[in-house]
Amino acid sequence: MTIEQFSLLWQCFAQRVRQNQEHLDDLDRAIGDGDHGTNLTRGLGKVEILGNEPPDPHLNLQTLSKKVGMTLLSTVGGASGALWGSGLMKAALVFPMSSECDDRTLVLWMDTFVGNIEERGKAHVGDKTMVDVMRPAVNWLQAAPQDRPLRARLRELRELAQHYAQGTKDLQARRGRASYLGARSIGHVDPGAFSSALWWDCLDSVLGG
Ligand code: ADP
Ligand code: MG
Repeated sequence: MTIEQFSLLWQCFAQRVRQNQEHLDDLDRAIGDGDHGTNLTRGLGKVEILGNEPPDPHLNLQTLSKKVGMTLLSTVGGASGALWGSGLMKAALVFPMSSECDDRTLVLWMDTFVGNIEERGKAHVGDKTMVDVMRPAVNWLQAAPQDRPLRARLRELRELAQHYAQGTKDLQARRGRASYLGARSIGHVDPGAFSSALWWDCLDSVLGG
């Protein structure tokens, strides 16, 4: 992945979340406080304008991952902002201080990013959170035959991530605001899982084929 592709990934995510803002708020209204789409749109809008700043010679994959993380942490608000933001900041250390990384490093970065989200949020697969999309997606990527190019694996993962997100509908929430509803959280897709699937969609748009 190049630094340009990394930038495009976040621009794509900002657009896809904005297009789905109302739906994400509706999903969050059913089992939370109705602000997930608004929260993410606000923070990702700030990430989008990072691209308008004058070219910075010190910018590399590591510093950009940190910068995106810091921006999300300070602007998204809500549980999702803290999780996306701190996950990105910590995972940044996996990236080289250069403008490009190989596929193995990229997958390790994803694994570290998701590992940090799990650690900070203390959520496991099955708890009806964004982890229900992020963790199985990274695991699938790591388990898929490595002789297949990453772009082919990402193409397949796009659909799979949506399937993982829909799978949260039948679960009872055990983490986050939705957990206060107990069994009443069953029957609704988790908003954070839905937005996470959009992220995989963008990864495919930028790197897949
Ligand atoms: P808030 O719940 O503070 O209003 P958002 O509405 O922006 O924050 O985000 C809610 C989403 O955050 C949930 O749908 C869920 O996917 C995710 N989430 C909440 N708590 C956790 C947690 N402890 N671990 C992982 N993900 C979580
Ligand atoms: Mg909310």
